[in-house]
Amino acid sequence: MAYRPPLRDYGFLFRDVLKLDDYSAVPGLADAPVDLVEQVIEAAGDFAAGVLAPLNSTGDKTGCRLDGNTVSTPPGFKDAYDKLVEGGWPAMSVDPQWGGQGLPYVVSVAFMEMSSSANMAFSMYPGLTRGALAALEFGASDDIKTTYLPRMATGEWAGTMNLTEPHCGTDLGMLRTKAVPQADGSYKLSGQKIWISGGEQDLTENIVHLVLARIEGAPAGVKGISLFVVPKFLPKPDGTIGARNTVSCVGLEDKMGIHGNSTCVIHHEASTGWLVGAENGGLKIMFVMMNEARLGVAVQGLSQGEAANQAAADFARDRLQGRSLTGVKNPDGPADPIVAHPDVRRMLMNSRAIIEGGRAFMLWTALNADLARHHPDEAVRSKAADYMGLLTPVLKAYLTDQGFQTASDALQVHGGSGFTEHFPASQYVRDSRITMIYEGTNGVQALDLVGRKLATNGGRAVMSFFAEIDAYTGKDHDAAIKPFVDGAAAAKAQLQEATLWLMQNGMANPDNAGAASTDYLHLFGLTGLA
Ligand SMILES: Cc1cc2nc3c(=O)[nH]c(=O)nc-3n(C[C@H](O)[C@H](O)[C@H](O)COP(=O)(O)OP(=O)(O)OC[C@H]3O[C@@H](n4cnc5c(N)ncnc54)[C@H](O)[C@@H]3O)c2cc1C
Repeated sequence: MAYRPPLRDYGFLFRDVLKLDDYSAVPGLADAPVDLVEQVIEAAGDFAAGVLAPLNSTGDKTGCRLDGNTVSTPPGFKDAYDKLVEGGWPAMSVDPQWGGQGLPYVVSVAFMEMSSSANMAFSMYPGLTRGALAALEFGASDDIKTTYLPRMATGEWAGTMNLTEPHCGTDLGMLRTKAVPQADGSYKLSGQKIWISGGEQDLTENIVHLVLARIEGAPAGVKGISLFVVPKFLPKPDGTIGARNTVSCVGLEDKMGIHGNSTCVIHHEASTGWLVGAENGGLKIMFVMMNEARLGVAVQGLSQGEAANQAAADFARDRLQGRSLTGVKNPDGPADPIVAHPDVRRMLMNSRAIIEGGRAFMLWTALNADLARHHPDEAVRSKAADYMGLLTPVLKAYLTDQGFQTASDALQVHGGSGFTEHFPASQYVRDSRITMIYEGTNGVQALDLVGRKLATNGGRAVMSFFAEIDAYTGKDHDAAIKPFVDGAAAAKAQLQEATLWLMQNGMANPDNAGAASTDYLHLFGLTGLA
């Protein structure tokens, strides 16, 4: 059976768990009553299931093609992209000032998940544009904003993120791409960027590269990195596209998954760019894009788990093998469906718990993004921003590690059929694997959590998070849910103990903290989900 958008779960989360209607006095959330949100989500689900999902396997099998320096995306992608733009989906949560619809971020997360479940490779094209737009909105001059944001909001122009170079991935302090100031205020950029997602494609009129580079004479290391906007076509004064810039795709990667998304080697040969923000202040602005993208990648992990689990559940209901341990379930057939076997149910149900809990955790954090941005009370804004900082690495690494594990369990449910290419199971395993690597590897997320986020502002965010859990578990609970609440309280007690251990032992020997960081992040993720 094809992908089915989890509308019921979304309705439950928006209405009963997050209680969106309680925020009707908060700007940014006020115009999004649950009734409207449910309609939007239903239409988003139709788009994902009807337009994007049918192209997922084609994209995987056909991939992208490079001719000269032009990239063709798989058949059907351009048509689907035009429908995405026509439907106004890229502009969903963009500020109306730039032509967006101003819907809450938390609602756009639902769209991101469903479009990524339906077709992760496709959904990366608008996904990166969203991140680039957020960075420009945060740090660019008014001139740059006016030229780029309205076209990026509609999706007519796409955005990319040019960080990685052949010798530098995690350690951006080593980057070498050079920027030379010009008399007219622009810069000429030279250097090579690799693995740039959507670096070249045939979907949009223009491609807006956000490029990290070093201005001649800048200090070494991360202190000397600046951010530039480098469009594929230079905009004319009226905003329409003009001459071709000297930035081009000189290679396309052959890779394990997300074949429908172009992963490009991008060559800057004295390409024209404009500084975004202050000289040497590039990383601070790029972090806006990276944080946005990290949450987007967390959603990708979740999305692949959901789609893979649906496929596995469908398969388990159809595939007949053996008899149930507790008596025949399918007396008219030669065997029972494998869903009757406890070990198959273990895989399916464990995954489902992770997916539904992970979705709730993700949406709760996304709602905090809206509160951090819009709430009139400074104390609420500050607490919500603390949670965003603390939980971004947790969600990125935990939901993607679990997304891959869920996809792997879904393949296991398929048996040998999962390993062959007759079913979609192997594509989910291959596509989900990159989510643990890009936007900062999961190991680096764990270090960010342990080395930076726990200690920020004297541990204010983590203490507030623990207090939030205590407030919930300390309430009177219905007998039916009490065992689960007690479990969550016990998990939180262990997490608190581990936090203390890290604070004591991390100081004494940072290698201890580094060695424990991934296990600690997993404990954090599981507790948050609970
Ligand atoms: C398909 C794909 C798409 C991509 N898209 C983009 C894109 O659009 N834009 C872009 O700029 N880049 C992109 N990347 C690059 C991606 O972000 C990097 O691959 C990633 O940041 C890791 O860098 P690296 O591969 O150089 O690994 P390395 O940095 O060499 O790391 C290798 C291993 O060492 C570990 N490690 C490294 N440093 C540390 C440390 N200090 N402490 C602990 N462990 C450490 C890592 O966790 C990892 O396990 C993409 C990559 C791929 C494969």
